[in-house]
Amino acid sequence: MTDIAIIGSGIGGVSAALTAAARNKSVLLFGERDMSRKMRRAEKVFNYPGMPEISGDELADALARQIEGMGISLTEDSITAVYDMGGKFALQGKSGGMYEAASLILAMGVVNNASLAGEEENLGMGVSYCATCDAPLYKGKTAAVIAYAPEEEAEVRFLSEVVERLFYFPVYKGREDVSFDRENVRVILEAPKEIAPRGKAVITDKGEYACDGVFVLRESVAPKNLIYGLETEGAHVKCDRMCHTSLKGVFACGDITGKPYQFAKAAGEGNVAALEAVAFLDGR
Ligand SMILES: Cc1cc2nc3c(=O)[nH]c(=O)nc-3n(C[C@H](O)[C@H](O)[C@H](O)COP(=O)(O)OP(=O)(O)OC[C@H]3O[C@@H](n4cnc5c(N)ncnc54)[C@H](O)[C@@H]3O)c2cc1C
Repeated sequence: MTDIAIIGSGIGGVSAALTAAARNKSVLLFGERDMSRKMRRAEKVFNYPGMPEISGDELADALARQIEGMGISLTEDSITAVYDMGGKFALQGKSGGMYEAASLILAMGVVNNASLAGEEENLGMGVSYCATCDAPLYKGKTAAVIAYAPEEEAEVRFLSEVVERLFYFPVYKGREDVSFDRENVRVILEAPKEIAPRGKAVITDKGEYACDGVFVLRESVAPKNLIYGLETEGAHVKCDRMCHTSLKGVFACGDITGKPYQFAKAAGEGNVAALEAVAFLDGR
């Protein structure tokens, strides 16, 4: 079993991974090939010590080279659920992959997508965050997908091969141009407002679409929906100065712990979270 699973490949997660590896712990680092889309949006960074006027792109490329140099591989998977198994954590990936680790560092950054009405109450009971994991439940049935990024269109293509009928609600820039060459997919350009009990319909500003289940696909799952019992405050995970969350063996770093949203803070907390995870593992 891996010692430390780190969810998020921004500067917080990478800092944690480097420190954990330096302390001889095995690491599973989850994220994206780009490392952090947020970081890449920074045109010039003026306040990161030792790297005057570095661009976000340059910093992200440097992080990728640094983990490679330390022998840390990036697992390109988005974690949709974490289960506390008492002594270990099981992580479910969007790809359908399952992973295990003895401790966990949350470094997912902050995503300001508010949940839809009916989403959290019906999670796992008609609402799913993972097409690969739950598509078989809707074989021959009607499903709906509410998606927040164009990357999710690949999931829709996959789902349309499994389900009988699919309503697709794209809620991102450029949605007017979305189309699919499969007859069982209907693209609906209305704003979803609510999910009916047990995922039996998507209610928009203009109508109601009956279905058997709803997939909500976002760049990131809200922390409180990722792992049961984790204390949060709005979009942030509650934690102390040593990056301990409300759950034993779970630590957090970076924007996810709250403001200020800054590279230096995220990197510093990544270091603290990793050292605390190491102490937790050594003291078990
Ligand atoms: C335009 C812009 C300019 C900025 N300029 C500066 C600046 O000059 N100086 C400064 O200090 N700060 C700046 N910031 C802020 C800085 O970008 C953030 O503070 C920093 O990126 C936070 O790092 P992080 O590691 O916490 O999260 P992020 O960089 O947001 O990384 C989070 C990572 O987690 C991944 N992830 C999320 N959910 C999951 C999941 N479920 N499974 C797997 N992976 C997941 C994401 O894909 C991403 O790779 C700027 C921000 C923006 C938007």
